[in-house]
Amino acid sequence: MSDFLPYGRQAIDDDDIAAVVDVLRSDWLTTGPKVEEFERNLAECCGARHAVAVSSGTAALHVSLLAAGIGFGDRVLTSSLTFLASANCAELVGAAVDFADVDPGTHNVTAQSLAACWSDTVRAIVAVDFAGQPCDMPRIADLARRRGAIVVEDAAHALGSAFEYDGRWHRVGGHPLADITTFSFHPVKTITTGEGGAILTDDAELARRCRLYRNHGMTRDRAEFEGLGRPGEEIGPWHYEMQNVGLNYRLSDIQCALGISQLRKLEGWVSRRQGIVDRYNAAFRGLPRVATPCRASGTRCAWHLYVLEIDFEALCMSRTAVMEELRQRGVGTQVHYIPVHLQPYYRRKYGYGPGKCPTAEAFYRRCLSLPLFPAMSDAEVEHVVDAVREVLTR
Ligand SMILES: *Cc1c(COP(=O)(O)O)cnc(C)c1O
Repeated sequence: MSDFLPYGRQAIDDDDIAAVVDVLRSDWLTTGPKVEEFERNLAECCGARHAVAVSSGTAALHVSLLAAGIGFGDRVLTSSLTFLASANCAELVGAAVDFADVDPGTHNVTAQSLAACWSDTVRAIVAVDFAGQPCDMPRIADLARRRGAIVVEDAAHALGSAFEYDGRWHRVGGHPLADITTFSFHPVKTITTGEGGAILTDDAELARRCRLYRNHGMTRDRAEFEGLGRPGEEIGPWHYEMQNVGLNYRLSDIQCALGISQLRKLEGWVSRRQGIVDRYNAAFRGLPRVATPCRASGTRCAWHLYVLEIDFEALCMSRTAVMEELRQRGVGTQVHYIPVHLQPYYRRKYGYGPGKCPTAEAFYRRCLSLPLFPAMSDAEVEHVVDAVREVLTR
């Protein structure tokens, strides 16, 4: 058993290592065959037409908004209960951000909470699947379509999640209700490439634009050339053109080889996460002053996080003290998330503040994420169960 269990951790085995070593011995370290193979496998795994691999989940969000043409004068709505990047992507393209409150059960934004902060300039929704729980995409997509906004699903937590809609199961990343879905492959997420991310879409034009923005806005496709302004100029095999400003957000072959190998294990890992969650739920459901996470019906959740809601006041213990007691027992915990609208930048820029998203704020005061990753042994899971019970029922 490990001495210390963090809230999340990657699982790397010999296959992964061999896959990376093979690339290191090959001709391509970056933008070679592994990138395309990873993109193909990812698209197939989720059921999307196109996948574009990028250097992080943050890059995926940034590129998505660039490709969708969101910018100055536009407004983007996202969840307050998320990692900073879900909001920052809008700031990075010059758009304004507003934050919708979350549902107390799923901790996701809803069509209702989004409608409540709608304004004329809203052009995009960044819908975050908190902990892996899919948002209510049918209602959110319906709202967005009626009001002329695009839907970006920030599925950094939800690779492997799915939901039932229209009589069949749809995977996150492969359903028609989001225009674009983004993933992160940071080591705490469901699969890892070290750092990395991806954009999935069924829209060929959006995918093409994502590829451009990933690579400096530069094209080598003759069909797209505009020329350099001099009539009769030779357009040779070296020719490349930049028609928009992009970035270097490429993912390397080294990373994609790891991603290909990791993706093969996704199904087993999602089942293992569900198994650990079931054990935790059974162990903690009866504890006083504690609420276990709930799952919306008709969904499969990849469970990026296991978040307990604890009434620390009634417990007469601060969250810091609980975290310290658990740390001493080798159990790492974390807080997901500080509501983004309370961050100094967003308070200063927009005048947002406490009271804006009461459900997200109340959740923030109570939440504590426990260790949850597929490589945890049964003994480690039981150790967490015992430690949490001991600390919370003293
Ligand atoms: C991790 C995460 C991101 C950012 O992904 P990186 O790969 O770390 O850039 C974006 N949104 C959410 C909800 C995340 O959890």
